Amino acid sequence: MQDSSRCRVCGLDQFPDLPWGESGEEPSHSICVCCGVEFGYEDDGLENCLLIRRHWVEVNRCKWFAPKHRPTDWDMAAQIRGIPRAYKSDDDDERLIQAYLQAGEPPPQGLAALSAVERPDR
Ligand SMILES: [Zn+2]
Repeated sequence: MQDSSRCRVCGLDQFPDLPWGESGEEPSHSICVCCGVEFGYEDDGLENCLLIRRHWVEVNRCKWFAPKHRPTDWDMAAQIRGIPRAYKSDDDDERLIQAYLQAGEPPPQGLAALSAVERPDR
């Protein structure tokens, strides 16, 4: 099962470690270096995984638990999309990705973009 090496909360590939063992029922109790979840403690169901994921993205702004492991070219969106299927929420995850990407960059056009939106059609 190719999903078995990925964190259920943030999708980080833990290979060769398996967060929940080969059976998917034997948590390692290791800590994810990315989202900081303890495998087997809080990531034991879709709802819990979603709650932690939302908090990690919206409150912690995807802060890495162990920042030294963060790749310089880290692709947050790709990692989130790689979350094991049973622990994904496509709508929710895409919203989180967009929120993260938008918050990570300054407003593209500043006031110009705003006035363009507010200008009535002629
Ligand atoms: Zn994680």
